[in-house]
Amino acid sequence: MKFSDLVGLYKKLEATPKKLEKTEILAEFYKKCSEDDLYKAVVLSMGTVFPRGDEDLGIADGMIKKVISKVTGYSNDKVINIFKTTGDLGLTAEKLMQHRKQKPLTKRVVTIDLVFDDLRGLPELTGAGSQERKIDLVSELMTNSSPEEAKYIVRICLSQMRIGVAAGLVRDAIAKAFDQDKKEVEHIYNLVGDYGSVAEKAKKGHMKAEIEIGKPINVMLADRGGSDVVAAVKEFEKAAIETKYDGFRCIIHKDGEKIKVFSRRLEDVTKQFPDIVKYAAEALKAKQCIVDGEAVAYDYERNRTLAFQKLSRRIQRKYDIEKTVKEIPVQVNLFDIIYLEGESMMDLPLTERWPALKKIIKETKSMKLATHLETKDGKEAEKFYENALKDGQEGVIVKNMEAKYQPGRRVGYWVKVKPIMEPLDLVITGAEWGEGKRAKWLSSMILACKAGNKFLETGKMASGFTEDQLEELTKKLKSLTIETKGKEVKVKPEVVVEIGYEEIQASSKYESGYALRFPRLLRIRDASEKGPADADTLQTIEKLYKLQRGRKK
Ligand code: AMP
Repeated sequence: MKFSDLVGLYKKLEATPKKLEKTEILAEFYKKCSEDDLYKAVVLSMGTVFPRGDEDLGIADGMIKKVISKVTGYSNDKVINIFKTTGDLGLTAEKLMQHRKQKPLTKRVVTIDLVFDDLRGLPELTGAGSQERKIDLVSELMTNSSPEEAKYIVRICLSQMRIGVAAGLVRDAIAKAFDQDKKEVEHIYNLVGDYGSVAEKAKKGHMKAEIEIGKPINVMLADRGGSDVVAAVKEFEKAAIETKYDGFRCIIHKDGEKIKVFSRRLEDVTKQFPDIVKYAAEALKAKQCIVDGEAVAYDYERNRTLAFQKLSRRIQRKYDIEKTVKEIPVQVNLFDIIYLEGESMMDLPLTERWPALKKIIKETKSMKLATHLETKDGKEAEKFYENALKDGQEGVIVKNMEAKYQPGRRVGYWVKVKPIMEPLDLVITGAEWGEGKRAKWLSSMILACKAGNKFLETGKMASGFTEDQLEELTKKLKSLTIETKGKEVKVKPEVVVEIGYEEIQASSKYESGYALRFPRLLRIRDASEKGPADADTLQTIEKLYKLQRGRKK
């Protein structure tokens, strides 16, 4: 299929705000796709090449500006000037492509295969010189594109499609195109987690939600359960409390000798974790099974779990694997079983799944059962919780023992209980203009803590605001602006905000050396209440970081 066919679809979708009409348009389009094109066409119709939202293409605005300049022959300044008038790099690309100074010598037809495969290759480009290689790759793709095609390639790269296609719409369109029941379509989506695959199944009429060993499945998710563990265990008739390990979710498929490891985002991470494959071969006694657990970075000499950031290095690492296996060893804590000897276990309650898991595992130091206590007793639960925290873990997960394994959705059968972090008062030192609905506001704020008479960045916050608060902050920050660079502004450090967050992480990205995980606005401080001189200090952040989860230095 030509990419221009997809561009036709994008234009139609962009032209109507009506959901029903969008569904019709999408359904018609899906219906016309050949079997070979369907997967990529559905995924691209959502404005992405990674349907599970698991990969970032690693392309920033600055890189796209370079691409536009390279392909069109206009200077970077010209690109920036046009961008200032359009506020959208997609439109900027389209405009400059219409009057491009350079034309390609040979012309290749841009197909959806080409766009999909090229963009999918972007995250693979890592290491030295990768930015340049990414710029080259997108430039080559755009060189052969029409101005309109270029607009959408840019938008896909930056995840800014603005065509209003959400998952629910795609679900309805697949149901309509292939004459299937919406609920069934959603049911299969919950299992496989990718509407591209769902559409293929729907077209073939294979609508049975069946687990296939070796193919990734969506995992069951946990809801927020506050910080009261006693209340949480009382919620369920039969409750179990387990340690909440802070690592990465890993789902292990064992089919005889064949072992595969998948992430929560359904990525195949077998290559990155040859150690987990080895541990599974030793510990899992079943011939065929799918088990679910959390892998943590582990210090075997001191017998303790290490911070998550270490582990994330392993997930991202695609080369020098053997070296990282040694540098960052892992331990796997299993807590569920989804499939056993040809049968799905999903519809069985945890009262049956947990003993089944226990039965097929020969625990080793590297692959063991999660710490698990079945209790309704408040005192016991509290003790368990305290021990988990003392042990340096994030908190606990309280589970309904009578619930089945529900993939993909938060249904309240598992709840996480974690200590609430003390809010911080931080100063805004910069901000960025928003996109789409938020384009009229400065909607992403740079936060900083106090260090002597300096302010050091500790991260970016883009959530928790009401529209009124955005309006108020934009007004204040505009009057404090000292420098503007594209969409970013630097401001005098005067506005103090109270921030909630999930965790403090060590980070080399920000000058304070720390970053906040999921920061959100709690309130804007009135200047009479708290000024920049009263903001929280770097020492406070350091202290909280160390205190959090009993983690030593
Ligand atoms: P969150 O990512 O904050 O929503 O917390 C839920 C995640 O905690 C799950 O997706 C798992 O990756 C992880 N987790 C750690 N320990 C457990 C456990 N014992 N049971 C279930 N999930 C766990």
